[in-house]
Amino acid sequence: MSIPLLQVNDLKKHFPVKKGLFGRQTEFVYAVDGVSFEIARGETLSLVGESGCGKSTVGRAILRLFDVTSGQVILDGQRIDDALPSTMRQMRRRVQVVFQDPFSSLNPRMRIRDILAEPIRNFGLAKSAIDLETRVTALMDTVRLPREALNRRPHEFSGGQRQRIGIARALAAEPELIVCDEAVSALDVSVKAQIVNLLQDLQREFGLALLFISHDLAIVEHMTHRVAVMYLGKIVEVAPRREIFAAPRHPYTKALLSAVPLPDPGAKRNPIILGGDVPSPINPPSGCRFHTRCPYVFDRCRTEEPQLRSTEGEQWVACHLDALPAE
Ligand code: SF4
Repeated sequence: MSIPLLQVNDLKKHFPVKKGLFGRQTEFVYAVDGVSFEIARGETLSLVGESGCGKSTVGRAILRLFDVTSGQVILDGQRIDDALPSTMRQMRRRVQVVFQDPFSSLNPRMRIRDILAEPIRNFGLAKSAIDLETRVTALMDTVRLPREALNRRPHEFSGGQRQRIGIARALAAEPELIVCDEAVSALDVSVKAQIVNLLQDLQREFGLALLFISHDLAIVEHMTHRVAVMYLGKIVEVAPRREIFAAPRHPYTKALLSAVPLPDPGAKRNPIILGGDVPSPINPPSGCRFHTRCPYVFDRCRTEEPQLRSTEGEQWVACHLDALPAE
């Protein structure tokens, strides 16, 4: 059996925060608190959940933008979380990122030509100046931007075009995995669809794996292979797209999906309105973290933390209920 491209094992990231007089006491924000999943080559896994659930922190941990508290991040059989700088350099090439706001991640003073050439030079991918130029122009073709635009700067492009440049810059490093962190969230609906289509085409063409971090389940439904749902630093359900959208098993997943519009404008879902606010990740609830908002809570939920368990096929859920009650 081939090993997954990416394995994340019991990942934890707890951020310290100072409190009290003179900041002498330290509390922790349990941003990610024991997350495990895998991504196969060429697969899209979407990590979804409300703002603040820890999904972007997972993405940043994979990119090694900070040290993790504990757990393992393994790329193609090699650990990233404790990799030495020399190993990390190659790892960085293989895992690239597309952020939500391309404008703030593109240097406004640089021409697009230089933005795209930078990773190619940094990772020593071009054999000559001609090869570098060929690669840069090919990237513009790949993301369907005109070659003449290479001499322009980021502010001369629309939001969607800038996101194409962000994708081209990620591709320049010839990655195997791209972390898309809310990569289409700031775009208009029609532009969103174009960028998602582009990502899918590129995935097919280059065999890329995508970790698609998003709060937008309507977009996720159209482009992912599997979905992992996060709540307050933990994954509560993982399943293939078809299964999770047809029959969510976790009460939180069910509530999230109830807000997704149906393609038929005449059809309506019954929205499930969750009571209360998302609890603080500084002091998460005991037992099941969702118990303060769950419509099906019972005694066991308040004291015993449910573990992810397989229900049917490839669907995994962290809930004490064997099945959700019928409506
Ligand atoms: Fe709700 Fe209990 Fe399941 Fe948590 S374990 S989701 S509180 S039923």
